[in-house]
Amino acid sequence: MKKAEISFDSIPRSAISNTTLKICLKCAFDLFTKQLKLTPRTAYSELKKHIPEEADITGAATSRPHFFDAPDIDHCPYCNGTKRWFAEFHSIRIDAHTSFEKERKKLWAALKKQSDRYTLWRDDQWLLEAAISHIKRSAPSNDWDKVLSAGVRRVQLSRQVEDAWRYEDGWLYVSPALYGDVIMVQHLISRSHQHGGRTFEGRLTFQELIRRLRRIGYFEAKGIDANDPYEEFEYAIGKLVDSGPGAVYYAVDRKDYLDKLKSVYEKKRAK
Ligand SMILES: [Zn+2]
Repeated sequence: MKKAEISFDSIPRSAISNTTLKICLKCAFDLFTKQLKLTPRTAYSELKKHIPEEADITGAATSRPHFFDAPDIDHCPYCNGTKRWFAEFHSIRIDAHTSFEKERKKLWAALKKQSDRYTLWRDDQWLLEAAISHIKRSAPSNDWDKVLSAGVRRVQLSRQVEDAWRYEDGWLYVSPALYGDVIMVQHLISRSHQHGGRTFEGRLTFQELIRRLRRIGYFEAKGIDANDPYEEFEYAIGKLVDSGPGAVYYAVDRKDYLDKLKSVYEKKRAK
């Protein structure tokens, strides 16, 4: 039975970015049949499960047999195979926002029902953003905008950095001390201030914070209905993280890939 096409129209266009990642099925089959000496049938069943990694799709580390399309590419950059071996993964990135979170959840529920075709994941971009902003504050005299103008893809603990940090090729290597600070900050942002945290309302213990939030009608406004303060707080944090500007969702559509894979396999089998 043919499943209905899922529409992404409920999400504002400005929050969606599409990426197409190509894969060479000749490279993919050769890996399993020539290098690993598997039968075409086993190779096919393994390849049906294949999902490109996030680093392939974002371009952070796109590796064989994946590549990005370009107007002049009509042969595989790895094996020189012709276009008939190419298949596509369509990645749909959604930058979350509270104004359409309901629609996003509904869409995700529909996509989950087609888990063969769609692979879903969430990128905790806010962790990286919190880390970078803390690192910047730790050494404010640097011209960070210039240093990090090419962007940071990853913050990496390193025992080899001479000073507190070193930037190279999209990676920000940081000393154990700075790395420790970063994960503390992230913990504080994402978890409760058990022993009191500073707020516009003064320094509040966890219990005081909850009472204050209740009094201003925060939980009601957020639609949070929980049994105890810890649960209330967990929900509140969950909502913040889910819908904050840092939450990024990916859906990878494997339809073209699965169709082409099947037809390539059937041709191989017919030989
Ligand atoms: Zn190839």
